[in-house]
Amino acid sequence: MQFRPETYRLPDVPMQPFIDTEEIWDYLNHTQSTPEKVRLIIKKSLAKNRLNLTETATLINATDKESVQLIKEGARELKKRIYGNRIVLFAPLYVGNKCSNNCTYCGFRASNTEQVRKTLTDDELVKEIEALEDNGQKRLILVYGEHAQYSPEFIAGTVRTAYRVKKGNGEIRRVNINAAPLEIEGFRIVKEAGIGTFQIFQETYHREAYQTYHLRGKKADFNYRLTSLDRAQEAGIDDVGIGALIGLYDWRFEVMGLVRHTNHLEACYNVGPHTISFPRIKDASMLQMGDRYFASDEDFSRLVAILRLAVPYTGMILTAREPAALRNELIQYGVSQIDGGTRIELGSYRETEKIHDLNKGQFRINDDRSLNEIIDELLAQDMLPSFCTACYRLGRTGEHFMEFSVPGFIKRFCTPNAMLTLAEYLVDYAPPQTAERGWSVIEANMVTLTDKMRSAVRERIEKIHQGERDLYF
Ligand code: SAM
Ligand code: SF4
Repeated sequence: MQFRPETYRLPDVPMQPFIDTEEIWDYLNHTQSTPEKVRLIIKKSLAKNRLNLTETATLINATDKESVQLIKEGARELKKRIYGNRIVLFAPLYVGNKCSNNCTYCGFRASNTEQVRKTLTDDELVKEIEALEDNGQKRLILVYGEHAQYSPEFIAGTVRTAYRVKKGNGEIRRVNINAAPLEIEGFRIVKEAGIGTFQIFQETYHREAYQTYHLRGKKADFNYRLTSLDRAQEAGIDDVGIGALIGLYDWRFEVMGLVRHTNHLEACYNVGPHTISFPRIKDASMLQMGDRYFASDEDFSRLVAILRLAVPYTGMILTAREPAALRNELIQYGVSQIDGGTRIELGSYRETEKIHDLNKGQFRINDDRSLNEIIDELLAQDMLPSFCTACYRLGRTGEHFMEFSVPGFIKRFCTPNAMLTLAEYLVDYAPPQTAERGWSVIEANMVTLTDKMRSAVRERIEKIHQGERDLYF
């Protein structure tokens, strides 16, 4: 790669969207950090205020042992105060891996002739969803390559199928999307199918680096991608997810980019992103990547803790790209959603054997525990696994979600709803050992509720035992 970050100057572009490379490097290069400053910033964050770019840069530049420890402890405390011990579970479902782009890091890229191309037929899609429901999944993210076949109408059709399929007590209650950017009209069409979050990752916020990885196709246009979630907002989708692919460029720059993107959305639409993702590059079929910007586990955990403090109210997603031990650690520093029972090879959920073939998936995952294994381990750590979808069902998204994100809200509503969705899972899907652990975690969480809420939860759990489902506050 040709560029040197420190000396990089913005090229002449017709429009200057909200990411200014030079400005971000100025923050990073000229912000001094001391443990005293770090303490004050953590205090602001613990008072549930989003950090500005100077404060974020101060945390990023805090590399001494004392400061790093303060940041991790601060993130742990913030997570406890805002999210409690809850962790939301979901599964990715790859619908099609045809792609006309050529992202050098991705196994799906057009030039990779080794990749087995596939788009699930209606019948296959139904079978995959049934298999996911049989495992107890309630929340999916549908994933697509970027291809003419995956039109807004096609995506909307697959979302409707996901909601329609019901097996036993199983049903999918929330369908999120990770797909290529659309025009405003396209976003409208997909929204009408009743989606949850629309995720689009910028991959890297560094304009010049971006060009070196995105060699052809629509994705080569940095600005078009950067403004995609603005178009989603214009189309009425107020629930969006942003992300950066860690390893394409300096992680410190990407953290700044994510925070800048967050305050752009807040400033323009009164609502920040619902979720932030920070996937790290993993091995992929015919991977064409150097490791110049590799982020070590230590850097990665600092990144997670800094993001947690910078954007206290935004959900943070950590996927099965990372190994179990690291996921368990990072949950403590602020991750609020993880996938479980993940299979990324097209059509693999209904197979009895795990596949693990790089030519049938986008990259290699490093945590292939079943959903129940993950739930079991979370319970053993006194975490509260949740399949809750209440806010989205009650219209508490976007600006409304921000309003509700006032102190105590998440704990007051999310904890009871997590308990109820876990109770459903225990009754319908859990083997005896998990069920035993689960009921004692539910009982342990009862003491955190007010008397009124506790009896309301007990009443609903009784109804679940009697066969009622989908009860929430
Ligand atoms: N094709 C759509 C797009 O590019 O926006 C959907 C996203 S893609 C299927 C999901 C995400 O996986 C990408 O946005 C990228 O961040 C991530 N990804 C791609 N290659 C990866 C790799 N080798 N390791 C880890 N994550 C990767
Ligand atoms: Fe296609 Fe998305 Fe992979 Fe790029 S990241 S090659 S757009 S599937």
